Amino acid sequence: MNKKQNPYRLYLTENQMPKQYYNLRADMKELPEPMLNPNTKKEATLEDLLPVFCKELAKQELDNETRYVDIPKEVQEMYRIYRPSPLIRAYNLEKYLDTPAKIYYKFEGNNTSGSHKLNSAIAQVYYAKQEGIKHLTTETGAGQWGTALSEACSYFNIPLSVYMVKSSYEQKPFRKDIMRTFGANVIASPSDTTSVGRKILEKHPNTTGSLGCAISEAVEKAVTTPNSKYVLGSVLNQVLLHQSIIGLECETAFKILDEYPDIIIGCAGGGSNLGGLIAPFMRDKIKGKHNPRIIAVEPASCPSLTRGKYTYDYCDTGKMTPLAKMYTLGCDFIPSPDHAGGLRYHGMSPIISKLYHDGYIEAVSTKQTDVFKAAILFAQKETIFPAPESSHAIKVAIGEALRCKETGEEKTILFGLTGTGYFDMTAYSSYLDGTMSDYIPEDEELEKSFPNII
Ligand SMILES: *Cc1c(COP(=O)(O)O)cnc(C)c1O
Repeated sequence: MNKKQNPYRLYLTENQMPKQYYNLRADMKELPEPMLNPNTKKEATLEDLLPVFCKELAKQELDNETRYVDIPKEVQEMYRIYRPSPLIRAYNLEKYLDTPAKIYYKFEGNNTSGSHKLNSAIAQVYYAKQEGIKHLTTETGAGQWGTALSEACSYFNIPLSVYMVKSSYEQKPFRKDIMRTFGANVIASPSDTTSVGRKILEKHPNTTGSLGCAISEAVEKAVTTPNSKYVLGSVLNQVLLHQSIIGLECETAFKILDEYPDIIIGCAGGGSNLGGLIAPFMRDKIKGKHNPRIIAVEPASCPSLTRGKYTYDYCDTGKMTPLAKMYTLGCDFIPSPDHAGGLRYHGMSPIISKLYHDGYIEAVSTKQTDVFKAAILFAQKETIFPAPESSHAIKVAIGEALRCKETGEEKTILFGLTGTGYFDMTAYSSYLDGTMSDYIPEDEELEKSFPNII
């Protein structure tokens, strides 16, 4: 038994850190369906993407062939400020669960944004700066993406407007102030600063907003402001590409440990951390070298993979972005306001959707009270205060470890601990006070917002 030989925390050296991103699309047997121009319904071209995205990022979005993409020097320099992120062995949790399984987690919360989102924010802002962009816009739901982008914009000195979902803006005032610390202009969405925001406010004056609606406002602001671009923190192929740094670091770390994960678990909102975490392991699976189980975990109240439709849909409520084929609840879907646990996006990364559709990935959904129960156990045993989003993965990792206890199997489990939950105290309070409810939409309710575009 070498159970105690491995370190609690494994950090790569600077030299061992990845110098290139890995593009999983280059190794997929079947590619995700192409994005479509929403007007012509024809395959989207580079020109179609340029009004919304920076050129280099638009190219990355469409590039299904380049296997490795150099990480620009300036981006590597900022990565070194807060990376590598540790691969941690959850010895104490294992002991508590009395499981023969080894539980590892990759902790991405060690930066001010409190999540993995900074990995892509830095790359996106860098490319925008290279292109001479003078202003960026984005949306943020829970606030992590907005914070990450604010940090990156401050580092590269580009002004930023953040459309923040109104419910978060009100529930998480301190989030807003962190973004302001980094110089961002934060606007509650829906707002009267855009025509799509004004339209939504007219129809639903009391709405608490949605991520889709905030995206639409940010896109509109970008296309109507000179030299401005919109950047998105999840879902897109380019974001998964940048997040591959998570998986690549894990891959090297497991080589050092001389182990390989049998089960890989990630929470799935838009699919970026999961896509990044699994990238090199999925390559091995596709090539038949290893066969890890890969599990996506989503909230029962926003179940795009487990109950959505695999079809073309807009990435935003404003219907301005190209159409992507993905598992989706429909871009008009607004999760219940009772839902506090993050991961509230209506769709799912086209790459993750395709892999799920082709049977490479399993998906499960879980109730938020179960998620918070797991979060609290994890905090007590591992001393990291997890984000509710990440806790979806914790919940399922614990379940798998307990299953190993029943079967006596010594499986190696890896999960993505995407971030910390310090700004989710309202959600933690409601769980601790016993007022948190579990909302699971009925089929008829989901039917109402399913897309019917193609
Ligand atoms: C945004 C976020 C997620 C979900 O986004 P993905 O694109 O699905 O990774 C998960 N965890 C944390 C902490 C986040 O901030």
